[in-house]
Amino acid sequence: GRKIAVPEFSMIVLIGASGSGKSTFARRHFRQTEVVSSDTCRGLVADDENDQAATPDAFALLQTILELRLKGRRLVVVDATNVRPEDRRKLVEIARRFHALSVAIVLDPGEDVCRNRNAGRQDRAFGPHVVRNQMAALRRGLRGLAREGFRQVHHLTSVDEIDSAEVSRQR
Ligand code: ATP
Ligand code: MG
Repeated sequence: GRKIAVPEFSMIVLIGASGSGKSTFARRHFRQTEVVSSDTCRGLVADDENDQAATPDAFALLQTILELRLKGRRLVVVDATNVRPEDRRKLVEIARRFHALSVAIVLDPGEDVCRNRNAGRQDRAFGPHVVRNQMAALRRGLRGLAREGFRQVHHLTSVDEIDSAEVSRQR
């Protein structure tokens, strides 16, 4: 599978539409304490992981945790859709401030896969346009990721590439 070798001290931003498998990928390759998720943060500030009104506060909390982990020179994985450049700008800025290397892992199994997976989820009750818009935003921004400040960009473009990826750490 695709080899993803990340530095011990990095900020890894998962990028992908809802249902692309970000949380699953994070669970599989990283320790639970290394992952900061927008859903978890939404749940912490508003009891409900789907409360969209809580999004600004959830991201404020996410960024605070990100800063505190990087201050301690600890690896951190950001589990949120992160499909728009403006979603990513602040993250890259924070990583840069702490001299952590920014890594983008794009999970891109295709719109149908995302839509079909979400159809079977109790916790994701939104229309097909949501995934379509997220995929469109993702595509528009793909080529700009290096320019945004990501030093590694890994674009996994099928279920197989995502499932067979191997993550290792370099000192
Ligand atoms: P969201 O942005 O909505 O949080 P997500 O990108 O975190 O979505 P997951 O929660 O990881 O997506 O996955 C969505 C659904 O797809 C889950 O039911 C999960 O079990 C399934 N799934 C995720 N990755 C895979 C995979 N590689 N193979 C098979 N099923 C998967
Ligand atoms: Mg998730």
